[in-house]
Amino acid sequence: MEKHYKLKNIITFLIDDLKKQDFLVYFRKMSLLDATDTKVTFWVVSAFMKDNLEAKFYDQILQNTKKEIPTVERIEFKVDQNIDNPSSTNVVDCASFYKTNAKAKKAKKISWNDIMNISWKTAKCINDRYSLNNFIVWGDNQLAFSAAEAVCKNPWHSYNPLYIYGDVWLGKTHLLQAAWNAVMKKFKDKNVMYTTADKFITEYVTSVKKRSIERLRLKYREIDVLIIDDVQFLAKKEQTQNELYNIFNLLYDSNKQIIISWDRAPKELTELEPRLRSRFEWGITVDIWKPDFETRLAILQEKAREREFMIPQDVAEFIAANVVENVRELEWVLNQMIAEYELTWNGPTLLRISAQLKKLSFTTDLLGSWKSKERTTIKSYEDIIDAVSNHFWIEREWILWGNRRKEFMIPRQITMYLLKTKMNYTYERIWNIFSGRNHASVLYSCNKLQKIIKKDQVLLQEVNRIRDSIWL
Ligand code: ADP
Ligand code: MG
Repeated sequence: MEKHYKLKNIITFLIDDLKKQDFLVYFRKMSLLDATDTKVTFWVVSAFMKDNLEAKFYDQILQNTKKEIPTVERIEFKVDQNIDNPSSTNVVDCASFYKTNAKAKKAKKISWNDIMNISWKTAKCINDRYSLNNFIVWGDNQLAFSAAEAVCKNPWHSYNPLYIYGDVWLGKTHLLQAAWNAVMKKFKDKNVMYTTADKFITEYVTSVKKRSIERLRLKYREIDVLIIDDVQFLAKKEQTQNELYNIFNLLYDSNKQIIISWDRAPKELTELEPRLRSRFEWGITVDIWKPDFETRLAILQEKAREREFMIPQDVAEFIAANVVENVRELEWVLNQMIAEYELTWNGPTLLRISAQLKKLSFTTDLLGSWKSKERTTIKSYEDIIDAVSNHFWIEREWILWGNRRKEFMIPRQITMYLLKTKMNYTYERIWNIFSGRNHASVLYSCNKLQKIIKKDQVLLQEVNRIRDSIWL
C-alpha cells in the first residue's frame, strides 16, 4: 500500500509540473513495481507509453520522483499488459486520477468570502465554463454576440435594455452567463445578478408568502446589472409580471443595465402584459438563428479541440450534416464519442457514428444522401479530389497515395492547392488527408503550383476548368 501512496504523490507532482495535454496523452495506467533507495521501477501499460516516457519525460519524472523519494538516482519503466486487467490492484489510472485531482484543487480554491458572494448574487446556477471567449460566432449570431460584448465592455452606456431571442439550445444562456462572468470580472464592486424568469417567480411567490416583499424590492433596487434568462416563463403570471414591471422601471430610470433572453420574437410574446412587453421593446433586440453546415462543423471541431479530442474530418462532416437542430445536440454526440473512446479506446469512425446516430434517432443515410443533401452548396475535400480525378482521368487513390511519377504529381499538387486556397484548409488538415506526406511537402506543393500557374497559362486553364466543374 505504501508504494501505492508514493506513486500517487509522484503523479500529483507530475500533474502540477506537466502540460495538461502531455499528461493526458502520454500517461495511462501505471503502478510502482519496485523502489529501492536509488532506483525506482514503474510498470506501465504499453511499449508506446514506455518509449515516450523514456524519451520525452525521463528528467521530469526523475525530478518529481525525487520529491517523494529523495535518494533516488535512476528510474526505469517496464511494460506489463496485465495492468489493464481490472483485478490489478495498486494501479493508478492517470486520466481519472487527473480528473479527481483537478476537482479537489478547484474545491479547495473557493473561500468563505466567495461563498458569501455567490449566495448573495444567487450565482449558484452560473456555469463558469461559459465565456465570451468560447462562444463561437457565426453569421446569424454575430449581432447578438457583438451586442453582448459591447454591453460587457461598457454597461449602462451602450445598449439598454438588451434583448436576445432565439430557439432553444442555440446559446442564449451561454451568452447571458458569459456576460455575467465578464461584467463580474471587470466591475468587481458592482452588483451583478443573473436569474431566470422561473427563479424570479419562485422568489416572488415565496416573498409574498413570507410577507417579505419589501426585502425583495430592496434587493433588486441595489442591482447594477440585471440579467434575466427565459422570460417566456413569465407567461400568464400577472402578479409576477407586475412586480417585474416595477423593478424594471426603477432600474431603467436609474440607468441600470438590463439584459433579457426569450425564446420568441417580441411580437409573439402575446401572453405577456402589453405594458411589460412594451418595456421590453424599448431596447435593442437581437436574434440567434440555427447554425448552417459549415458552422456546425466548426462548432464540433472547436468543442472537440476544447476537450482535446480528435475527430476525423469525414466523421465530423457526417455529424455536421446530420445533427442539424442546435448546438446542444452536437455537444451531446461529441460527449457520446468521447465516452465511448474512454471506455473502449475505439476512436470515432463513420460506420460507428452512423450506427450511434441512428440509435439516438437522427435520420441518417451513410450511403450518400447526407452528401447529396449538402452538395449543392457545400463542398468537402472529397468533391475536390473527385473533380481532379475526373478531369485527369486518373483514380482517386493515385492522387492520394500515388508515387512520385510526374503524371500524378501535378493532379496532386492541384488538389492540395485548391484545398488550401479555395477551401481555406490548414496545411495540417491537408496532410491528414494525404496521409504519409508531411507538413513541409504540402507547403512545398502548394507554393510550387502557385508559381507554375503564374507562368503556365495552359495549366492555369486546367485549374480553372476543374474549379468551374464544381462551382468552386
Ligand atoms: P439556450 O439557452 O439558447 O437554450 P444554451 O446556451 O443552453 O442554449 O446552449 C446549449 C449548449 O450549446 C450549451 O452547452 C452551450 O455552451 C452550447 N452553445 C450554444 N451556442 C454556442 C456557441 N455559439 N458557441 C459555443 N457553444 C455554444
Ligand atoms: Mg437557456
